Amino acid sequence: MTESTKCAHQACKCLVPTDSPHGKYCSEHCKEAVALSELKCDCKHPGCR
Ligand SMILES: [Zn+2]
Ligand SMILES: [Zn+2]
Repeated sequence: MTESTKCAHQACKCLVPTDSPHGKYCSEHCKEAVALSELKCDCKHPGCR
């Protein structure tokens, strides 16, 4: 069983594994974008564009 949680980026709908190398985010993109208050996610993951 793999635990996952939603990406901490508000506009992102990706699920992030709890052992993600990016912490609470699905990608480095979200980690940086959260400081920019992006209105839409651009992490390029499927289902997130
Ligand atoms: Zn995303
Ligand atoms: Zn994300």
